[in-house]
Amino acid sequence: MLENLVMFNNEMVVMDQEKKIEQFQYKAEMKQLLNLIIHSLYTHPEVFLRELVSNSSDALNKIRFMKLTNEQVLSPEEELKITISIEPENGFFSIEDTGIGMTHEDLVERIGTVASSGTLEYIKNLKDAEKADNQLIGKFGVGFYSIFMVTDEVTIETRHADLNSIAYKWTSQGEDSYSVEPIEKENRGTKISFKLKDEYKYIADKFQIKQILNKYSNFVDFPIYIENEKVNVVEALWHKKEADLVKEEVSEFYKFISNDYFPPLDYLKLDIEGTINFKALLFIPENAPQNLFQERDRKTLHLYSSKVFINDDCQELLPDYLSFIKGVIDTEDLPLNVSREVTQNSPVIHKIADIIKSRILSWLEKMANDDNEKYEKFYREFGSLFKTGTNSDYMNKKRIVDLLRYESSNTKAGEFTTLNKYTSVLDTKQEHIYYLTGPNREQVERNPNLEYFKKNDIEVLYLTDPVDVFTVPYFGDYEGKSFKSIEKADIKIENNEESQVDEEAKTDLLAYFKTILGDKVEDVVESKRLVESPVTLVVGAEGMDPQMEKMMQYMEKNYTLSKRILEVNINHKIIKNLSEIYNKDKDDPRLKNAIEQLFDSALLLEGYLKNPADFVTRMNDFIMKATEN
Ligand code: ADP
Repeated sequence: MLENLVMFNNEMVVMDQEKKIEQFQYKAEMKQLLNLIIHSLYTHPEVFLRELVSNSSDALNKIRFMKLTNEQVLSPEEELKITISIEPENGFFSIEDTGIGMTHEDLVERIGTVASSGTLEYIKNLKDAEKADNQLIGKFGVGFYSIFMVTDEVTIETRHADLNSIAYKWTSQGEDSYSVEPIEKENRGTKISFKLKDEYKYIADKFQIKQILNKYSNFVDFPIYIENEKVNVVEALWHKKEADLVKEEVSEFYKFISNDYFPPLDYLKLDIEGTINFKALLFIPENAPQNLFQERDRKTLHLYSSKVFINDDCQELLPDYLSFIKGVIDTEDLPLNVSREVTQNSPVIHKIADIIKSRILSWLEKMANDDNEKYEKFYREFGSLFKTGTNSDYMNKKRIVDLLRYESSNTKAGEFTTLNKYTSVLDTKQEHIYYLTGPNREQVERNPNLEYFKKNDIEVLYLTDPVDVFTVPYFGDYEGKSFKSIEKADIKIENNEESQVDEEAKTDLLAYFKTILGDKVEDVVESKRLVESPVTLVVGAEGMDPQMEKMMQYMEKNYTLSKRILEVNINHKIIKNLSEIYNKDKDDPRLKNAIEQLFDSALLLEGYLKNPADFVTRMNDFIMKATEN
């Protein structure tokens, strides 16, 4: 035997020249991955069947599509189907499809290699095996290897649909290597065969397989045969009339297309006829993914043209802020030989997208009206992303804004109000919709700037979602009222309480504050908004929202905070005391200490205190004096 070592795609290949068998080593990462997949990733070994069926279904979709675009294909008359064969006595199992088949490159680059680089790390960090079963597989292109849970050796025989393709046999024991060799195979498609390990032999049984298919692969678009018996019903659920849809069936369909474990929160069936015709079945998931804002990867609604799957990555179908919606769209108005590029620029797609967008908004509006509990569930899960629509979908801004929910000084914790509610009870004198930003309700409620509003029963919205500072200030007017942060210095406050400190003493004291604090503040002024607190910090009329600044600081280490205006509550007992001391002896050291302490406390409340050491030293000093006998 003549053995040569050749480099192929950076992998070491041993080549048997006579038989043309190539031997490939798995890369290190792949080996670890295989080990994890086989031993810890899946809790339900039978999911291997779902993975194989779903790969076959993809391959069949591809050939159906290829045939539409009039390309010449191998065995054009062949029925598009999946065939499962078993030998119950010895556990032999095979699954064959008449799909697009694989080239040599597919076998090496797609089957023999992990698709995305972060996969191994990701899988290593997975703890919840249940989750892995249901969400992870497929997403990371490792589904095929689930087969090694139930067998020790796999053979793939495949021939690509190109007329002059060569057929190959791929064999692996899933440990460190696999081999590829040319074979004779007349028809296009792929056959995967293996012998089930003893403990999984029971799967080689018609009834078992039917049950597994029923659980995982109910909606495969192609007939599946076991030993000549067709075992699935192929139907395009979205072609049914709304009244004929059965909830359980719709739920199962949702799980099938979304890889979700839970049923959807709600669904919407559309049957649009007119200048544009399409049918759609859309879903809102029950739960948001962890990375809601990055989730917009490549996948979106499944696009069909007259029941033929076209793609599931046509980004034009949904705007980003609605990208959490899952579902299917089927239209007769796309040319059948539509290509990926065509879907991107197609006026048909853009019209469909406009209609879908508007229908989704109506759906949410109706839900908010009829079933507030469900709507709030949706909002808590997807609200953050949904809100960003106010920045991008100018045409529908008012509709989106009306669907937003906020906590406020008038709601209980965890309860929402709407802008409509807020403005409908407003006294005509109030020009603004007031808001206050902060990381959570507790902190917002501790903000001294709220005191006046609480005392006078003026509602203030609590904006606690980081997205709020990037959206609310840009809403413009709502029902003729503009949005205003109550942390701004230029807020109009009518406070008729008489100051009990005379004007001159007041001016002198404020000037003294300024001398002590120097360039740490932009200004020191008398406050009208404080009730219980002696001082507070506010932002100049043109200044940035403090919560926004915090975010800037977070994103940019060297970001310097803008200076604040210190507002002083002249009627507060502490301030009155200071005024008295000041009048007696301007050089009393207690004055300077107290002013610095008040300023630092205000910083501390807002989370800006940089130097706690001085603060604590002064504080200890005060305690010392307060506790002296
Ligand atoms: P994924 O399907 O998530 O990409 P898999 O490991 O299941 O990951 O499959 C890897 C790739 O191998 C597929 O993307 C496809 O290109 C190819 N493949 C697998 N099974 C088949 C099949 N039956 N017919 C054609 N190609 C297949």
